[in-house]
Amino acid sequence: MSRTTRFLLSLYNMKKKITILGSTGSIGTQALDVIEQHPDAFEAYALTAGHNADLLIRQARKYNPEFVVIADKTEYEHVREALANLPMKVYAGPEALCEVASLDCVDIVLTAMVGFAGLRPTIAAIKAHKTIALANKETLVVAGALITQLCLENHAPIIPVDSEHSAIFQCLMGAQENEIEKLIITASGGPFRTFTYEQMRSVTPQQALNHPNWHMGAKITIDSATMMNKGFEVTEARWLFDVTHDRIQVVVHPQSVIHSMVQFIDGAVMAQLGTPDMRLPIQLAFSYPNRLKSNNERLSFDHYNTLTFENPDPERFPCLRLAYEALRRGGTASCLVNAANEVANQAFRDGRIPFLAIPDIIEQTMENGAFTTSPDLDDYFESDKEARIKATELLASY
Ligand code: NDP
Repeated sequence: MSRTTRFLLSLYNMKKKITILGSTGSIGTQALDVIEQHPDAFEAYALTAGHNADLLIRQARKYNPEFVVIADKTEYEHVREALANLPMKVYAGPEALCEVASLDCVDIVLTAMVGFAGLRPTIAAIKAHKTIALANKETLVVAGALITQLCLENHAPIIPVDSEHSAIFQCLMGAQENEIEKLIITASGGPFRTFTYEQMRSVTPQQALNHPNWHMGAKITIDSATMMNKGFEVTEARWLFDVTHDRIQVVVHPQSVIHSMVQFIDGAVMAQLGTPDMRLPIQLAFSYPNRLKSNNERLSFDHYNTLTFENPDPERFPCLRLAYEALRRGGTASCLVNAANEVANQAFRDGRIPFLAIPDIIEQTMENGAFTTSPDLDDYFESDKEARIKATELLASY
């Protein structure tokens, strides 16, 4: 074997170095689980958190990353002192998130932060030509056109982590773009699938946080209860797969066994099935184009004697309609929807507004927010800021 071949093989066998933006969250902790299961394939190179310094310190001690970032600068001394006897570098603040997302030797950046805050570090990673394992769907909701253009220009592939998009990605392996007729995104329907509109008037944050099938962070769990999450997934799919909104259908499938489907031009429908476990799509995003063995629970058909499907109800779940409408309008419309949703979602969790105020606030913000047809990055930041102010003013009327 020549030295060149040996060198190329050693490159091929090298562990993939991964930056996890949001390692203390639901996706972040499951990603660390995946890395732990495959120590020969993956390495946690940089870990970042928002405020949860104690968990970040525990993770840093266990996984020995080269870099640790706490976004909340008030926690910097605490984290630095706790890790002082270890050889890792500790930074703080939002700028440091962009730095560890674009480090030279990083192969993959997992964007597992929640909300609009994920946009800047994702852009930094794209500009540094990293492979993006994308969980932070808000990035594509806010600025899908700009992000996909940047990815093309910088040869930075996006591999979806969201289970529905990972399912579609898997169904599309080996398919041609012009063979897709439509994408079918499945939805569990959330905790209020069978509630009447009247019952939904008085639901509490505790009820909304009790998702029937998935254990996720608080924000996305509330988004699942309003079905805004499904609306965002339609937007995410539009940009990830370059399929317009009129060819993306949502089907409620309460068992969450089929993670999503693709219908092809000959009428064939391909589906990806599995247990509701995010470690599978996270692992695939890391290992792609290969699959690695995992010991996660297997799907048992003894457990499911019926798989059911129904149409979403736009009357009880207007957020889904609003997401489609924003896609139809284009420009900054989805950015306005995202900002208003972040404000309303948090206010509902804090007990300041009722559940049904969430879609109202989003709709009013979308109708009255500053709309730009062909936005650049500054326009997105400006629209986000204005929409948050508008949505915050609206909170007072509930
Ligand atoms: P969590 O709330 O559980 O975790 C969010 C992570 O982001 C935490 O590490 C948090 O840090 C960090 N974070 C939050 N705000 C900031 C900030 N301003 N600056 C830096 N870091 C910040 O969320 P999830 O893991 O549930 O979701 C993460 C993303 O993945 C979301 O966009 C969600 O829509 C998407 N997603 C999640 C799925 C799931 O199963 N959970 C499924 C599919 C997509 P800390 O806690 O330390 O403050």
